[in-house]
Amino acid sequence: MKFSKEIENFLLEEAKSRFLKYVQIHTTSDENSTSDPSTDRQFDLAKILASELKELGCRKVILDEYCYVYGFLDATKGYEDVQAIGLIAHMDTSPAEKGKNVQPVIHENYDGKVIKYPKNPELILTPEDSPELKKFIGMDIITSSGDTLLGADDKAGIAEIMAAVAAWQKFPFLDHGPIVICFTPDEEIGRGTKNINLEYLPAYCYTFDGGEIGELEIECFDAWKANIQFNGISVHPGYAKNRMVNAIEIACRFVSQIPEAETPQHTENREGFYHLYHLEGDCVKAKAVLILRDFESKNNKKRIKYLEQLIAT
Ligand SMILES: [Zn+2]
Repeated sequence: MKFSKEIENFLLEEAKSRFLKYVQIHTTSDENSTSDPSTDRQFDLAKILASELKELGCRKVILDEYCYVYGFLDATKGYEDVQAIGLIAHMDTSPAEKGKNVQPVIHENYDGKVIKYPKNPELILTPEDSPELKKFIGMDIITSSGDTLLGADDKAGIAEIMAAVAAWQKFPFLDHGPIVICFTPDEEIGRGTKNINLEYLPAYCYTFDGGEIGELEIECFDAWKANIQFNGISVHPGYAKNRMVNAIEIACRFVSQIPEAETPQHTENREGFYHLYHLEGDCVKAKAVLILRDFESKNNKKRIKYLEQLIAT
């Protein structure tokens, strides 16, 4: 669908200004928390989005106790019987990096050179490491200041959906069927749909959480997480012969047995992998955390079996 320049500019400006606002709201989730949502701070963004959806003409908006936001936008006249669709995005950002005090930086009219970060001189983004940067020469690129995540995952998705809702209000001649908007908490820690209320959602929904412009993904991977604990026996090194069991050494040996070809850095498209993303410990205790991903669940079953065999030896 081709929009007029006016609508196109409106969508771009709305998405950008909303994005810059949303990323500054701290919504990091916490995988160690047992509450739902995992962090109360996610309500800070949820409340703003709920009130914005109301202002933008949603007939009904719900913010529930689990921090899910639902907005219901009526169809335009004559389109009431069209199949309803859902637009979904997540509000939390990954606990892997700091998400507080995000200060977005706009690199206007990107020149194709190295991108530097004001708060972290050692961090650089180069077209050599990230060739996709070349596609954006001449455009504006938004990054963090280098000391936090930016949180584009998934505040870009939220901003895009909100920009569309704003456009439907501003340009009422843009016809559409019934729309349901849903913003979820805790996606980054694997609990994004834990408390989702399917009764509110239509049969067809689109999640705005992708990478490429124009890309449409129609399947999801099978996902597992392995938390492996290694227990050692600590003995004074002077008397340790045949007695000491060094937990971190065993952990390292274990990790070295993970097939290197099946890691994220060596796989693409529909290839599955083991991803070791956390390893810690000392002589007494060590811990490794892995995630397994595959588009065929039987392949992940094999990986789980392999890990179990490694553990047994
Ligand atoms: Zn995401």
